[in-house]
Amino acid sequence: MPLLADVAVPVPLSQAFTYEVPAALAGEVRPGARVLCEFHRRKLLGVVLAVSERSAAIDPSKIKPLAALVDARPALPAELLSFLQELAAYYFAPIGEVLRLALPAIEREQVRALKAQGELDGMLDLGRAKQVGGRKVAYATATDAVEEPGTLRGQAAAVLALLRANGEQPVARLEERYGNARSALKKLAERGLVALDEREPPRDPFFRLPEERDVPPELNPAQADAAARIDAALAALSAPGKPVPSAPGDAEARGAAPREARPAGPSAFLLFGVTGSGKTEVYLRAIKSCLDRGRGALVMVPEIALTPQLVARFRARFGDELAVLHSGLSDADRHAMWASLHGGKVRVAIGARSALFAPVPDLGLILVDEEHDGSFKQEEGVRYHARDMALLRAHRAGAVCVLGSATPSIESVALVRRGKLVELRLPDRAHREASLPEVTLVDLRRFGAGPSGDPLISLPLHRALERTLAAKEQAILFLNRRGFAPSVVCGSCGNLTTCSACSVALTYHRGRRRDARPQAPAGAPAPGPAAPLDERPQGGLLRCHYCDYAGPLPERCASCGSRTLLLEGLGTERLEATIAASFPEARVARLDRDVAGKDRSQAILARMREGKIDILVGTQMVTKGHDLPNVTLVGVVNADAALGLPDFRAAERGFQLLVQVAGRAGRRDRPGRVLIQTRNPEHPAIAFAAAHDVPGFLDREIRDREEVGYPPATRLALIRIDAVDEGVGRGAAAKLAAHARTCPDGLARRVEVLGPSAAPIARLRGRYRFRVLLRARERGPLRGTLAALAGLMRDGIDRNARVILDVDPVAML
Ligand code: ADP
Ligand code: ZN
Ligand code: ZN
Repeated sequence: MPLLADVAVPVPLSQAFTYEVPAALAGEVRPGARVLCEFHRRKLLGVVLAVSERSAAIDPSKIKPLAALVDARPALPAELLSFLQELAAYYFAPIGEVLRLALPAIEREQVRALKAQGELDGMLDLGRAKQVGGRKVAYATATDAVEEPGTLRGQAAAVLALLRANGEQPVARLEERYGNARSALKKLAERGLVALDEREPPRDPFFRLPEERDVPPELNPAQADAAARIDAALAALSAPGKPVPSAPGDAEARGAAPREARPAGPSAFLLFGVTGSGKTEVYLRAIKSCLDRGRGALVMVPEIALTPQLVARFRARFGDELAVLHSGLSDADRHAMWASLHGGKVRVAIGARSALFAPVPDLGLILVDEEHDGSFKQEEGVRYHARDMALLRAHRAGAVCVLGSATPSIESVALVRRGKLVELRLPDRAHREASLPEVTLVDLRRFGAGPSGDPLISLPLHRALERTLAAKEQAILFLNRRGFAPSVVCGSCGNLTTCSACSVALTYHRGRRRDARPQAPAGAPAPGPAAPLDERPQGGLLRCHYCDYAGPLPERCASCGSRTLLLEGLGTERLEATIAASFPEARVARLDRDVAGKDRSQAILARMREGKIDILVGTQMVTKGHDLPNVTLVGVVNADAALGLPDFRAAERGFQLLVQVAGRAGRRDRPGRVLIQTRNPEHPAIAFAAAHDVPGFLDREIRDREEVGYPPATRLALIRIDAVDEGVGRGAAAKLAAHARTCPDGLARRVEVLGPSAAPIARLRGRYRFRVLLRARERGPLRGTLAALAGLMRDGIDRNARVILDVDPVAML
């Protein structure tokens, strides 16, 4: 019988293809290894899923041999490979696309080897696979040895002195300075005065400074209990004869759901602790327990939380046994990190969503910090949820999973109630003196504008800012709207200026300030400030926050031709200007996506930490400013903004945001104050946040979801359809909905088919958007229906319509 390999190729198809393993490669081709294989007269880079000796299910003469083996050692370890297959099955995603999420770049050496074998002729298509060179950098370091006095002269003496004074240096840099650096170094190395070595260049900003090891604090009782229970779970799973995770392959049948905890005891936890309760310290202990057992650990954090301070805390405990994976890495850096994990040199990985696919050796622990954060959901390509998949990967790897949050997601709380997660609670802040901030609701229906004249800076907020400034303390003002004015409205006919490609309002951005002290925006008629065009500052642009459109403010209303266009509403730019004008003595700064890329935002937060800013105005980005002990006032300028969205998670998200923002006020010995401005003080998201009552909100929200039949009471799959032509999109959506309704589970009403309907944002980037929502109490029928629809979705109902399946959707707009 021939030796056959099932190979996944990077094409949007769910199945694998069968190839014959040539005799020369028998024993070398293993699952997880990349191979070159011929596919429709092209050579593609594929991944071996399985190898077995069997008779082929198809005509043996049609089976081609593998062209070449790329990885001598499989790029994907068995544990990761089987997890990826389950992920693909769960999301109905093409296996080739899913594998790509985890595959490393191709090393140039591999490419060279293939070339030598004559495999790289014109037919090769490495797809989107990136190539990296194994470029190593030579370093020189002065040793402790001491030379005989007077035996060194010229450049050798100078180079040695420089190395001793400034520490190790790349040889290339020495060569720039000293023409004979190479021969000088050779001489010095021969005498044992200098050590030369080759390294992967450490270009990652997170690794610029060596971190001093810290002394772990003594845990408080709640932390100690949490750490002990995680340790016990690790012990149970790591003991000899540990229960072996069941084999992959049956995922489709069971829906790849994380199963009940095994008899060994609980192995998945929800660490529910208020901000500052010391969750990170519990993570650090858990990682230590895991490493002590010889296993590796994976830490996932939201991208925005992956800051140098956080990484420094991990490095202070684990030194260089830490791979940091983030979006700013160069291909070469990413590959170096990947290789150090894959080779077992480094056993702890920390990173954002995509770290889910890190090849952590003998994975024993996955931590997901801020598990409620929306950034764990990938919203393009393979639409996976990294938190859900962390539970799955941990379960299959025989690893412990810990989800941590101060505001747990409703999904995770539901898992606790169903006995699938064990809750660990840290009820108090770690520093005994640090109390939770006092929260005051400011009802905007009762309080008008303060001295600034802007109705969104109420008198109580104004006074609180004054007191904070007088006490030489700092304030944060949170507003989740970028730009100057969120809408431009015609003063005569009321027409709203919208994007020509999207059905959303354009935001007016004034752009760079020309003078340090801008004028306050003039005119503020209720309900919301609006400045007529002729009073607005010159310049600026209208921007669409959904597509890349940016253009000048029109002279006239597009609908009636009137010249009275009004800038309505308050964005962070305008808030910054208004605050700066009202508090001329204060140093005001802004932090949002417009002023800050990743590095800039760190710089702004650093200035805040150093006390060089008095009032920081910003969007969500300010909520992640950790460790700002002098911030004693947090103002939420408009708590209602997020609550009105047509999304069943709007209340949950609004609540989380309020609690996270409030958590920025007062740490250590300074009591903090939070002012929340709202027109809906009785809205549960606002009322519970003001009372610091997270469990109360969760209870209420779970009940509400049960009532309206949304997750976690039900399971959803959203089919998104879009097309340039409105009729094409609508037609495709209608066909899909009709088909879903005639599936057996649709007919039996085990799966409810909602729609087709226009999406809440009906048009985006020039495409009309429709959707069909499938809803079911049980996962099985939903999956059955999706399986029945899969072919129709893939092959397209209409070539001009794009169909995207989103299982467990998060973004509903
Ligand atoms: P969280 O991750 O829950 O927001 P952190 O782990 O950042 O909380 O802890 C908040 C602060 O308390 C940090 O400065 C941390 O060093 C400190 N801390 C945590 N645990 C202890 C402890 N057991 N004893 C003293 N300080 C602690
Ligand atoms: Zn008009
Ligand atoms: Zn647009």
